[in-house]
Amino acid sequence: MPALQNPTSPVGRVYLVGAGPGDPGLLTLRGAECLARADLVLYDGLVNPLILRHSQASAERTCRAEGPTGRTIRQEEINQRLIEAAQSGKTVVRLKGGDPFIFGRGSEEAAALAAAGIPFEVVPGITAATAAAVYTGISLTHREHASAVAFITGHEDPTKSTSLDYKALAAFPGTLVFYMGLHRLPSIAESLIQAGKPAGTPACVVSHATRPSQRTVTGSLGEISTLATAAGFHAPSLVIIGDCVQRREQVRWFEDRPLFGQVIGITRPEGQADEAAFRAVELGAAPLLLPTIEIVCPEKWDEVDAAIARLHEFDWIVFTSVNGVQGLLNRLWNTGHDLRRLAHAQIAVIGSSTAAALAKYSLRADLVPAEFRAESLAAALAPLVKGKQVLWARASRGRDVLPNELTAAGAVLTQVIVYQNRDVLELPTAALQQIERGELNWIGISSPSIARNLAQRLTSEAKAQLGIKTKLASISPVTTAAAREVGLPIAVEATVATWEGLFQAMSDARENSSA
Ligand code: SAH
Repeated sequence: MPALQNPTSPVGRVYLVGAGPGDPGLLTLRGAECLARADLVLYDGLVNPLILRHSQASAERTCRAEGPTGRTIRQEEINQRLIEAAQSGKTVVRLKGGDPFIFGRGSEEAAALAAAGIPFEVVPGITAATAAAVYTGISLTHREHASAVAFITGHEDPTKSTSLDYKALAAFPGTLVFYMGLHRLPSIAESLIQAGKPAGTPACVVSHATRPSQRTVTGSLGEISTLATAAGFHAPSLVIIGDCVQRREQVRWFEDRPLFGQVIGITRPEGQADEAAFRAVELGAAPLLLPTIEIVCPEKWDEVDAAIARLHEFDWIVFTSVNGVQGLLNRLWNTGHDLRRLAHAQIAVIGSSTAAALAKYSLRADLVPAEFRAESLAAALAPLVKGKQVLWARASRGRDVLPNELTAAGAVLTQVIVYQNRDVLELPTAALQQIERGELNWIGISSPSIARNLAQRLTSEAKAQLGIKTKLASISPVTTAAAREVGLPIAVEATVATWEGLFQAMSDARENSSA
């Protein structure tokens, strides 16, 4: 039996992977596996760069058309890069928009690899036609309307020489989907109508399908190109023609998401924004990471370690943030201890997120006040802590409400700094420019220190957009007050002090303004 791999000549392997239509969640599991083991990723202009998060490799964008990166790369050059990288032993992922073999020249790349004797695998992807149809609420093969579906290139000019038989297409008993057809839409529609397709046939143009910037216009075949031009659609767009389009209104779902199309600045610290960003996507929005503070280890651990050494003496341990929970409990573990050390203490927290962070360590909070603010926690604890030893695992900065109130209530309070909350000195340039251009709809502000630092870091051009193009949502009354003090106009405030509460407030505001 031949060896699976020749150990003396370790030639790498190329994975031709379909990246799907744009929504980064529409990548296959196999595609993600290939990305995780890649040494080099070459991706084309249609690929959503968010997908590159699955890879640690260096990634290069290849661009056959003149794009924003300027340089165009010929197909032969791409083939050669793939071959040379594999010959030097690299595992290469060639990422292509949609499916690599649908109007994607993926098969030409595969043929070049085969000819050069490079081992390769092709991973299918969700092609734009099926994804765009589903995300606009259209079944391309609805059984009452279509017995077939055709994927057609709109690249060829039907008024000049074309291999497409428009008579056959007009008579086709099903749905027609044109890729790459936006700029030829007037002549495509005209040619179909001349070939006998009724001008009243329902049609639809979908641009940026599956992205928060998705836009759809529907109309009859006779008028669709005028409507698409009026709507100012850009590539990538595709055109769906057939009776199935008329069912769209019944089952559209993506465009009806509560924050559909909204660009939302997420101010959470780097490395802690994933959950909020993921939720924003689920609600139909485009999250823009805008880390405004950073969370780092305390300058020294002495006081924390001293408190850990006498943990059994504390009657209450108080956590007021997720970082506080992680800071103390990770240090406990890293210094050779474990949760049994907490066995004698009661635990009090502010907020459901903090309680959820505790639950990840299989710990239940004994006290979670209904309101997520220091005043409520202090009020709830005050009758319970007279003469008691209380430990607060806190940030390097914050308000004094809790220590003042607990000490006044007779508690013996020990405060230890388990993490530092520091201002980020520069916002990401690209994000700042987006705010300056008025492209952000919202910024969510989730703490007073974020509010204060944001006010410092925004340029005057960016500030000029606040309250006009970009509205600010605050997580709590305390945050709102801090924001207003530094001149940030808060448009809405969350009822529940969580990111979910912030998104709810944004979506309520949106509903009210469109009502
Ligand atoms: N291999 C890709 C198609 C490449 S051809 C696939 O399987 O999807 C490029 C054309 O695909 C574009 O001109 C456009 O018609 C279509 N397309 C790709 N992504 C799209 C998207 N997100 N929304 C609408 N059309 C898209």
